Amino acid sequence: PVVLFWFRRDLRLSDNAGLYHAFTSGFPVLPIFIFDQDILDQLSSKQDRRVAFIQAAITRLQDQLQTFGSSLLVKHGSPLEIISQLLIRFEVKAVYANHDYEPYALARDQEVAALLEARGVGFHTFKDQVIFEKSEVVKPDGSPYRVFGAYRNKWMATLSDFHLRSYPNEQDSAHFLKIESFPLPGLEDIGFAAPDNNEFPPEAVQKSIISTYDQTRNLPALPGTTRLGLHLRFGTVSVRKLARQGMSLNAVWLGELIWREFFMMILYHFPHVVQRPFHLEYEHMEWLNNEEQFERWCTGTTGYPIVDAGMRELNATGFMHNRVRMIAASFLVKHLLIDYRWGEAYFAQHLLDFDLSANNGNWQWCAGTGCDAAPYFRVFNPETQTKKFDKQQQYLKKWIPELGTPAYPATMVDQAMVRERVLKAYKEALAKGR
Ligand code: FAD
Repeated sequence: PVVLFWFRRDLRLSDNAGLYHAFTSGFPVLPIFIFDQDILDQLSSKQDRRVAFIQAAITRLQDQLQTFGSSLLVKHGSPLEIISQLLIRFEVKAVYANHDYEPYALARDQEVAALLEARGVGFHTFKDQVIFEKSEVVKPDGSPYRVFGAYRNKWMATLSDFHLRSYPNEQDSAHFLKIESFPLPGLEDIGFAAPDNNEFPPEAVQKSIISTYDQTRNLPALPGTTRLGLHLRFGTVSVRKLARQGMSLNAVWLGELIWREFFMMILYHFPHVVQRPFHLEYEHMEWLNNEEQFERWCTGTTGYPIVDAGMRELNATGFMHNRVRMIAASFLVKHLLIDYRWGEAYFAQHLLDFDLSANNGNWQWCAGTGCDAAPYFRVFNPETQTKKFDKQQQYLKKWIPELGTPAYPATMVDQAMVRERVLKAYKEALAKGR
């Protein structure tokens, strides 16, 4: 008899809540990972770097498990079918995993739970990717917060050492099932190919960046943010460990981790945000949705240097600095009057740190349609933003070598009319929504 530990967004052995609990079952733990075909099918590129990142992460898990005389069983297909087959192949006493909060994952886990229940096998899942989940941080009347500041205060007031303690998994390697190594599928086995750029930011926490984060976080030319988004996305770093660092080193940076949990909470309680504005009255927005202008935004050829630099950084590296994400998003929505969902979808395909809740929450924040969002009448001026945050134009020059030459395109919209046009469109939408 064995218990399965199903890795999903928690691709690490150390300080892994669900894995720790699997160890306490008293049965040998067989670790599994499933490349979910439904998720892979949504990716537009067969050289998706996030798939390569997962592949690298599970290769590392496999190496670690082999040193314990165990092995990771990696499958490809439908989780429901694969788990059903594993119940035939092994005498499975229970399946352990960590919580996943996106609508797709919740539905998948419900199906898996029903299957396991029908077979008399337990399905035990745990909180791991956040400090607080679901309704752990809510208003006194039990309803979810809609304003970040109030949520953050309650989050901080609820926090204790208990929530930040780590799970000591490393000492428990003896609990893994001893078995001969399973072969690890390569990228080509799951229909993918190695991307041209296979380098990823390290998961090591750079304390110096966190310590000075409040001074450097808005300057895109500096390495002033941690680049841990990708690791938080796939759980190659423990959020408890990071929150401890935030607590001791920098409250502003800790606040970013709280923003992450705020948007996860919003998605959990208001799943309509996936398709629709958080504030439904904005559904009446009449977007212009000019495809040619959208294409210029995507390719970083709008003629607005800070927007173009950001989009080029994204296209080349899968990363874009947060300040520039805000400017580029605002530009698409407010300057071009293109539906924020177009931009959201483009980011979803390209960001290494793509996360449904953070991407959606931030896009809706920029569009003014979200909870506690920037008011719709705030229109970022790309030039003013550049003067403030990239005064020496280091970031611009890095990404736009042809800046200042005739090869660089002219601006594509008239700044003077933008404000009037966007205010009119939002006002009309709100009037219709009432
Ligand atoms: P740091 O600045 O070092 O912050 C540490 C961590 O805190 C981040 O890795 C992230 O997990 C979290 N965090 C920071 N800011 C935010 C925020 N505003 N909202 C939620 N979490 C935050 N972040 C994502 O993780 N995934 C996304 O898909 C995503 N899409 C975005 C889209 C737009 C339009 C905007 C404006 C922002 C988006 N963000 C997203 C938030 C933010 O830009 C990134 O988290 C940040 O730039 C990642 O850089 P970093 O890892 O160096 O983070």
